[in-house]
Amino acid sequence: MQGKVDRLQLMELFKPEEVIVERGSETSPIYRNLVRALPDVPFHMAKGDTLFRGAISGVRFAAAKRKLYLTKYNGEFFKKCPGSEGQVCCNYFVINFASNCPMDCSYCYLQDYLANNPELRVFSNVDDLIAEADRTLSRHRGDFFRIGTGEITDSLALEPYTGMVREIIPYFAEQPNVLLELKTKSDCVDSLLDLDPKERVVAAWSMNPQTVIDADECGTASLGQRLSAAYRCQEAGYRLGFHFDPIIEYQGWEADYREMIDQTFATIDWRRLAWVSLGVLRDTPALKRTMRSRFPKTQLLTGEQVLCPDGKLRYFQPLRVAMYRKMAYWIRRAAPTVKIYLCMETREVWEQVFGYAPACEKELGNQMAPAI
Ligand code: SF4
Repeated sequence: MQGKVDRLQLMELFKPEEVIVERGSETSPIYRNLVRALPDVPFHMAKGDTLFRGAISGVRFAAAKRKLYLTKYNGEFFKKCPGSEGQVCCNYFVINFASNCPMDCSYCYLQDYLANNPELRVFSNVDDLIAEADRTLSRHRGDFFRIGTGEITDSLALEPYTGMVREIIPYFAEQPNVLLELKTKSDCVDSLLDLDPKERVVAAWSMNPQTVIDADECGTASLGQRLSAAYRCQEAGYRLGFHFDPIIEYQGWEADYREMIDQTFATIDWRRLAWVSLGVLRDTPALKRTMRSRFPKTQLLTGEQVLCPDGKLRYFQPLRVAMYRKMAYWIRRAAPTVKIYLCMETREVWEQVFGYAPACEKELGNQMAPAI
């Protein structure tokens, strides 16, 4: 694999057209990193909150992804993942160090979730983030926390400029009761490779066959680039995660997904996997309208879906169960004991796929805890 890694092209890196810095953020290490990494990009200082908010109002979603705002975050960084009503929850926590994403997947729920504040924002007060996480983690040493950073952004796509993850890994690597997950569709892992994650950091990829990437994951790394980045992280001592999500049903999907799974497990050592998740395509009526207007050629709108009690549209349950069973079978052939869970699915579906459903969210969360 190493020879292949050396020859692979890296993804074309997004570069902001402009960086707008809110007053006070210029003392942050993230500002220092941005200045160093973007010498030919104009930086503008916003003189105060009013001007800053005024400067970003009314920006359309696609245009909003091209300017980067560095601003202090005044809310709580550390939150429980909201999950979805009536679905089995995996007891996941999130830390939001940025908002929105420079890539542009047709099915991205952020198109709706951030419709009223779509600016590509990175938060400068990394000290506050670490202090807040430390208050929770040190107060609950008996509990295990699975924390993700990719709920409203991609965890690594901006890393070559912000160096955010590099700033926070040393803290999380020292915590005995945490796994920090960095979930991405990029291959921006260079800044991670000389750090020691001490078994506390999971580098994770959202995975889809190249056909789906080409059609619906604009600006992301190719399948080969994602696997190459995963391999490099594995060699650097990171645990790995894969999220086969959203799984799309189309003519010939089985062959594409089986091949992708085979390619994945031929590249990485499955014993370094912390977990694998499965989730089928889900959207909402509002998101479908947005997709129709922003991505009129996408094929994702043509499949039949039903409205579920949590307000999300999914494929019919029998089809979902059949798809999950096939995916789990192909994965288990290569990785017999890897932990697999379903993302945002009902107990009924769990039972039909795996023959059991976790008794509670804590049970599922604990199943993901490392055996070290
Ligand atoms: S990579 Fe993730 S966050 Fe970024 S556009 Fe795609 S789905 Fe949205």
